[in-house]
Amino acid sequence: MSTRRRVLLGGVGALALGAGGLAGRRWYLSREAEPLPTTDAGGRVLWSNWAGNEHSYPARRAAPASEAELVAAMAGPRPIRPVGSGHSFTALVPTEGTLLSLDRLSGLVSHDAAAKTATVRAGTKLSALGPALAAIGQEMPNLPDINKQTLAGGLATGTHGTGKGVKALHGEVTAMRLVLPSGKVAECNRDTRPELFHAARVGLGAFGVISEVTLQNQPLTRVKKVVTLVDTDQVLADWPALAERHRNAEFLVLPFTGKSALITHDTTDEPVRPRGADQDVETLMALKQLRDLFEFTPELRRRAAQAAMADIPPEVAVDDGWKLLSNERPVRFKEMEYHVPIAEQVGALKEIIARIERDAKGVFFPIEARIIAADDAWLSPFYQRECGSIAVHAWYREDHQWMFDLAEPVLRETGGRPHWGKLHSLSGQELRALYPMFGEALAVQRSVDPQGAMMNPFLLKLLA
Ligand SMILES: Cc1cc2nc3c(=O)[nH]c(=O)nc-3n(C[C@H](O)[C@H](O)[C@H](O)COP(=O)(O)OP(=O)(O)OC[C@H]3O[C@@H](n4cnc5c(N)ncnc54)[C@H](O)[C@@H]3O)c2cc1C
Repeated sequence: MSTRRRVLLGGVGALALGAGGLAGRRWYLSREAEPLPTTDAGGRVLWSNWAGNEHSYPARRAAPASEAELVAAMAGPRPIRPVGSGHSFTALVPTEGTLLSLDRLSGLVSHDAAAKTATVRAGTKLSALGPALAAIGQEMPNLPDINKQTLAGGLATGTHGTGKGVKALHGEVTAMRLVLPSGKVAECNRDTRPELFHAARVGLGAFGVISEVTLQNQPLTRVKKVVTLVDTDQVLADWPALAERHRNAEFLVLPFTGKSALITHDTTDEPVRPRGADQDVETLMALKQLRDLFEFTPELRRRAAQAAMADIPPEVAVDDGWKLLSNERPVRFKEMEYHVPIAEQVGALKEIIARIERDAKGVFFPIEARIIAADDAWLSPFYQRECGSIAVHAWYREDHQWMFDLAEPVLRETGGRPHWGKLHSLSGQELRALYPMFGEALAVQRSVDPQGAMMNPFLLKLLA
């Protein structure tokens, strides 16, 4: 057991004993939601997403193993919805028609060693892409917090990591092959069908099904990852300088504690020092236990947390970037994330922290802040704008309405654009005002899908 885990758990455990057995009050009272039937009345099998907040019973499922099989599958009942790893929180995937998994369209197709590009089948999971690219001396310039997503699924929602000057995944796409709803195969890049390329790179699975993607990668780099507990006031004050100084920087505000976890990655020549076991479960459950014990006495909660976290040393690991940038997140949650103009990020964060600590005392999950470079994909939340992202989370078993009531108004006030794969309340009219090329992207969508074959109710709300 690492020092961090031992100290945090030990500290909270001692406090729990001292509080006379109140520990885990909600933990023991919590119940799993009633499981959904695995089949519906018509014998159709259940699909649900990772967080368990979205589901459907598709009439047909297909997992094509070749592009030709994918073309054939496009003739299935409507709507046709491609699915990656089901890690989106929004209802992009559910369908009563055809659910198309690209699990069998996986792996490297070809690469150019000199240009450091690679063409990859669209269903490749990021976790499999890391070692496959490493074997040819390449890596993606950045990765998100987890690597369970498929490449196409990640691109479709604007999936990103963090880093000043570092783009989201779709920012490094140079070409794509798509099977259009008509069953025709289209290739696109900056010169060939550029309008399709610009519209479908962050395409929500609304422009057809991507079968292959060409990525601009970089040579393998060794990085040093450091996780440090810092004062939240200090990290908020230092954030612009920290983002500038580190290749990848982010921080997770631990509400009601006055503390944040600062995570940085920088290139290094130091010898390999493999990462330790992920501590997501233990840390989150310790924060939950603090909440359960001290929800109604925030000052005591803060003091207990600070006592439990005192003297926790930084965690350090040195390894290839693709091994360190993503994490395991076994504790299920629901999430809202907006990408706000960078100058607005710290102010919006302070307001959200204040609102949570005043009006949402049940919150115990961290609030995450990252930075993402501008790009030129028409439906990219980072379209022509460097952004600071702000994400709020709720444990999957607990209510998350506070995200919409407390956090979303602050995020919207900044002109923030919601993550396409995470919870938000916006519909077409509001989104159009946030995306200068929204109308152009819609025109491309209509031209490739005039019958609306890809459109489920959620997409109709977004793109109507
Ligand atoms: C624990 C966790 C951590 C996360 N961390 C991050 C993070 O650090 N950064 C971030 O930005 N996001 C993050 N996310 C959100 C996640 O990256 C996105 O929701 C992503 O889209 C999920 O990818 P997926 O493969 O599961 O796709 P799915 O959720 O299955 O599908 C997403 C979209 O992709 C479309 N799609 C799938 N395959 C294709 C295809 N072949 N062609 C066309 N469209 C396709 C689907 O139709 C759908 O519209 C996280 C989510 C979870 C649950």
